[in-house]
Amino acid sequence: MGTISVAQVDPRVASFLEKPRKMLINGNWVDAVSGKTFPSYDPSTGEVLATVAEGDRADIDLAVKAARQAFDSGPWRKMSASERGRLIWKLADLIEAHAEEFAYLESLDNGKPLTVARAADVPLAVDLFRYMAGWTTKLEGNTIPLSVPYTPGAKYFSYTLREPVGVVGQIIPWNFPLLMAAWKLGPALASGCTVVLKPAEQTPLSALKLGELIIEAGFPEGVVNIVPGYGETAGAALAAHNDVDKVAFTGSTEVGKLIVHAATGNLKRVSLELGGKSPNVVFKDADMDVAISGAASSIFFNHGQCCCAGSRLYVEKAVFDQVVEGVAEKAKKIRVGPGLDANTQMGPLVSVEQMDRVCRYLESGFSQGAKAIAGGHKTGEKGYFVEPTVLVDTNDQMKVVQEEIFGPVVAAMPFTDPEELVPRANDNVYGLAAGVWTRDISKAHRMAEQLQAGTVWINCYNIFDAALPFGGYKQSGWGREMGHDVLNNYTQTKAVCARI
Ligand code: ADP
Repeated sequence: MGTISVAQVDPRVASFLEKPRKMLINGNWVDAVSGKTFPSYDPSTGEVLATVAEGDRADIDLAVKAARQAFDSGPWRKMSASERGRLIWKLADLIEAHAEEFAYLESLDNGKPLTVARAADVPLAVDLFRYMAGWTTKLEGNTIPLSVPYTPGAKYFSYTLREPVGVVGQIIPWNFPLLMAAWKLGPALASGCTVVLKPAEQTPLSALKLGELIIEAGFPEGVVNIVPGYGETAGAALAAHNDVDKVAFTGSTEVGKLIVHAATGNLKRVSLELGGKSPNVVFKDADMDVAISGAASSIFFNHGQCCCAGSRLYVEKAVFDQVVEGVAEKAKKIRVGPGLDANTQMGPLVSVEQMDRVCRYLESGFSQGAKAIAGGHKTGEKGYFVEPTVLVDTNDQMKVVQEEIFGPVVAAMPFTDPEELVPRANDNVYGLAAGVWTRDISKAHRMAEQLQAGTVWINCYNIFDAALPFGGYKQSGWGREMGHDVLNNYTQTKAVCARI
């Protein structure tokens, strides 16, 4: 696992990393009120990658004030929907023009392979903004015929307006730093809201780069403010702020519950995209090659650091050994290394905390009788690498089967038929996603109906599109990201009733 110098590969990225990064408040790059900074680490070496202004309550106050002013009295609300759409589209163009820098920043800050950041994170972010740009001009209400019983003969003209909720606080995680910023900012801006965005402390860099492009695109000052900092300080201050009208959060279910509590002060609206422990179901009539590759990539994509990772693999008994051995073979062949290395297929986990957490889960699995037929340990002399791991001899009660690991660890279990499988697959506090692999089209759609999940993939997995809503049943969240649905998170309905 050789180390590659950033300066050798992209001088623009090297110069971005050289200077301490500031926060974006009211169109200006500023230091934290406290003057404090915090380090962002390269997870492939554990070394400091960049230094970033550490936002806290005082900075959140200033950012919320700027967002409030931009919402209440700035040029933003006076712009036509089409002008707003053009700005969002321009931002997409600018991200595309800087795609390489974003791909390097994502790879360095998060650890993911550069090839993956290039192929998935950056183009998906561009697409998301373009898709949302189109919605600005389509936020329509309805006209509604009234039949009021106590005003017989009276005539009314009634209609609804879709209005922005106002100042939005957005708190995002570290697994897809730029893409999560896009998922959040795109619909908020399309709806006409103003934003205070807090990136994850592990991966603040691409959001700060995005801030530069937001200024370049010409968004009015204060429309987007970006305050990096820690969750317990900056994040908590944003979630609790009484002048924030809505908070949108993506992260762990545990913190999601804290956000709900924090929001009670002013009953701000809350949307949550939280954890998962998604069942991935392989029937014996599936195309085995496709199902085995799909089962492997459903868990190992992004090193398992996906809220929708296919982490519970249920395989019909007759093909259990074939599928599980196939997935284990694939796991053993995955080349683990630094994200910038062109040969790397899986990078390090994002942080030492995350690596330790995954290793604790592995220990817990082993102590309860699980066996690793691939992986099972951390690896590498430095950095936060964990081997792609396939666990067998697991059962539905084990922690590794019930709890979200958020790492490259899949627990495989056999099943006999759908009647037995469905209650087991649904026996979990989460309900984010599920996968079904079969050639029987009726069985596939019956399963899709029965599985309690916000997304069901059939003969595919981890397919994302800006037009396809994504979000959770049960404790996986409130509301949906992307698609038409997400606009409900950022708009509120006004009913207008006129007697004519
Ligand atoms: P993980 O445990 O995987 O790091 P978290 O849910 O803790 O995921 O983090 C997701 C985001 O939530 C990050 O931006 C983090 O800073 C933020 N966060 C963490 N704790 C809090 C909190 N108490 N209040 C608000 N935001 C928080």
